[in-house]
Amino acid sequence: MVKRRRQEILIEMQKMIYLDHNATTPLSQKVIDQIPSILQAWGNPSSIHWSGREPKNLIRNARQVLATALKVSPLEIIFNSGASEGNSAVILGIYEIFKNSKNHFMCSQVEHPSVLKAFQHIEKLGARVDYIPVSRKGELDLNFFKKHISSNTALVSVMMANNETGNIFPIAELVKMTHAVGALFHSDCVQVLGKIPLNLSELNVDYATLSAHKFYSLKGTGALFVRKNSPYQKFIFGGGQERSRRGGTENTLGIASFGVMANLLDQVVFRQKELAQLRDHMEARILLEIDGVSLTGNQSARLPNTSSMVLRDIDGETLLMSLDLKGFAVSTGAACSSGSPEPSPVLLAMGLSRAEAQSSLRISLGWETNLGQIDFFINILKEVVLRLRNISQKTNMKELSLMREQSL
Ligand code: PLP
Repeated sequence: MVKRRRQEILIEMQKMIYLDHNATTPLSQKVIDQIPSILQAWGNPSSIHWSGREPKNLIRNARQVLATALKVSPLEIIFNSGASEGNSAVILGIYEIFKNSKNHFMCSQVEHPSVLKAFQHIEKLGARVDYIPVSRKGELDLNFFKKHISSNTALVSVMMANNETGNIFPIAELVKMTHAVGALFHSDCVQVLGKIPLNLSELNVDYATLSAHKFYSLKGTGALFVRKNSPYQKFIFGGGQERSRRGGTENTLGIASFGVMANLLDQVVFRQKELAQLRDHMEARILLEIDGVSLTGNQSARLPNTSSMVLRDIDGETLLMSLDLKGFAVSTGAACSSGSPEPSPVLLAMGLSRAEAQSSLRISLGWETNLGQIDFFINILKEVVLRLRNISQKTNMKELSLMREQSL
């Protein structure tokens, strides 16, 4: 009996283990269970006959639930295709509205590419953008912010939490200073949902972007919060959907699934504690059992699920691939572009060297992660790191003796 149970546990553990929740999350079973009934509501939510009623109700309900959880009005939520759309809509829209009066913008140096590239785009159109630096600890340079913000600033955009390090920025404080000069404030809150409580009313931001697939729902759906009376310029023309702020027949399945998860946002305080305990246990074991590991961003406020680290003498891409072969999904601070791994701009902006960024690993836990998975992961990580370091040592020795031979 005991032997069978042990075997079952081993089989269970050998399954794929997903530790990359900041990239995307698995679909919640709650969402999967609801999908068949949501699909029954196939009508066009704008139709006024019977087929439109159910999808319209589903969307209305999702909007209400999400708005209540975020402490805002349902009228302030625009459903869209995701956070990249939301970020572009705000940045390009505000540029367009203010281009003849205020042309200064600010964002942090560690924003997601959907924010950074939108700012680079408006720079080409004539905007002036200041990129706020972050320290090695992951803290925003508030002196830089105070020095550069002015009455000519149209919009400040700072993410609430960083996707790579999990570092949390002081949004409420930044909003106060931004509003004091008459500028607007946008925050990419994608990484926050489901990890720490999010109260948009308290933060007092003008705009916030969210993405359903980072919160156990479907890809291709997001929500943009636009505070009542904050200027907004629509860029998708069409029908009168989303109170004429975004044209296009609504994605009923995506929106209703997002609503299913929004119903669970009251669990966040409890989940936050659970995630932090697991993450802290994982980091403590890794630091104790693997040589040459240093954590990134751990000395500042962080999301409870995210751990970013540098592993000395380890190539992040090789580590990721080796772990993948063993069934683990994690992420590295280097992304392969055109054949050569490019170090993460976020880690470089924090002052890490190229070599450090290329030796980095991001582990991001989720609601379904458990202690057994974490302990199993660490055991394998130890083995893999040891093996890779041995290989690189042997390769270096070989290279060294080859060089010696050649110099003789
Ligand atoms: N902002 C942040 C911080 C993200 O992590 C992501 C996703 O990787 C996005 C924006 C883009 O979200 P979406 O995939 O919904 O466009």
